[in-house]
Amino acid sequence: MKKVEVLAPAGNLPSLKAAVDAGADAVYFGFRNATNARNFEGLNFSEKEAETGLAYAHQRGAKAHLVLNTYPQAGDSDLWHRTVDLAAGLKADAIILANLALLRYTRERHPQLPIHLSVQASASNYEAINFCQRHFGITRVILPRVLTVGEIKELKTHTDVELEVFAFGGLCVMAEGRCYLSSYVTGVSPNIEGVCSPARHVRFENRGDKLQTRLGGVLIAQYDEGEEAAYPTICKGRFEANHQVYHVMEEPSSLNILEMLPQVIEAGVTSLKIEGRQRTRSYVGAVTKVMREAVDAYYADPRRFHPKTSWIKALNSTSEGTCHTLGTYQEGWQ
Ligand code: SF4
Repeated sequence: MKKVEVLAPAGNLPSLKAAVDAGADAVYFGFRNATNARNFEGLNFSEKEAETGLAYAHQRGAKAHLVLNTYPQAGDSDLWHRTVDLAAGLKADAIILANLALLRYTRERHPQLPIHLSVQASASNYEAINFCQRHFGITRVILPRVLTVGEIKELKTHTDVELEVFAFGGLCVMAEGRCYLSSYVTGVSPNIEGVCSPARHVRFENRGDKLQTRLGGVLIAQYDEGEEAAYPTICKGRFEANHQVYHVMEEPSSLNILEMLPQVIEAGVTSLKIEGRQRTRSYVGAVTKVMREAVDAYYADPRRFHPKTSWIKALNSTSEGTCHTLGTYQEGWQ
């Protein structure tokens, strides 16, 4: 039986190596420019580092997917085209794209390069997925985090495109590829610049015994002494509404599907994706190791699979936010 893929994030070369060494079947990473949606300062790969990373993965039997999932502006596609050409020249195992024009460009220029449809494309139904397969030859889709396990299972009966789903990591409000919240205070769009809350717009300021976090000058949250401060994003801000200060849009939490791993695999998915290219090498290594062990344990004895306490503990220590959730996978709204 072919095992589901464990797919790990790599924000830099040390993280890529940590992921492969911890047992990832594949890694995904982007270049150091606006073509990928984790365009944080200090992260991502130069051409040389990408070449080294691909070689490191391939020598150890792992695959490497290159991410180009932002949206070029009309008349300003050169950087995106050059980066697609670069990914093809480096012989990446797949390229992850969201933009229709780039899908077409890649299909026409590099027909041998497998295309995965990014979560940023927001394709959550089989008609959209099959359309992209028919016109652009996509081989895989990364599903938005809005579907139940039942819906994923049903969707799979209507498509032979491989399904990749998120298994662990930070969550946001899940308007995947359509969120412009941070652009209202920073003036730059995450879907074009590739970064929500760019570091140059972020401030951590001490005010008396409080710590304030700001984005584009807007107060996002205020923390008491000793309280752990989160990186400021609008959707997870603590704002005042109805005379109360609270997480108005979303409580910070991490997705963790371990409890539902058998159901997710049996729904027909090909790949389990770990979120977190912006996270540290130790996060990548620790989460990949747990996912590797959990997937292997499932295939060793699917009916008796149960998440180990040590796995939960290891994942809890890496989590963003205050709680874990099964996200929409467990919802019963279908
Ligand atoms: S503001 Fe929140 S929902 Fe929007 S892209 Fe940023 S993290 Fe995601």
